[in-house]
Amino acid sequence: MIKVRCFKCGFAFQLSEQFVANALAAEGVTGKPTHYAAQCPRCRQVNKLPLKGVRLPEPERIEASGSEESTGEG
Ligand SMILES: [Zn+2]
Repeated sequence: MIKVRCFKCGFAFQLSEQFVANALAAEGVTGKPTHYAAQCPRCRQVNKLPLKGVRLPEPERIEASGSEESTGEG
């Protein structure tokens, strides 16, 4: 887990590496980002969370509201 403390309201919260990896993937971020913009659940302030030394896992498959139909035998 990655610990975050909101610089605005002081609220402390944690984000899982998986959550961050998924969020970055959803934003289209590839490679190794140096920061993640973590939004405080209490006051919505965006806190820049340094990802130095953080090992992000592979993002999980994100379920987009699928309109794309893939053809395949099955
Ligand atoms: Zn806050």
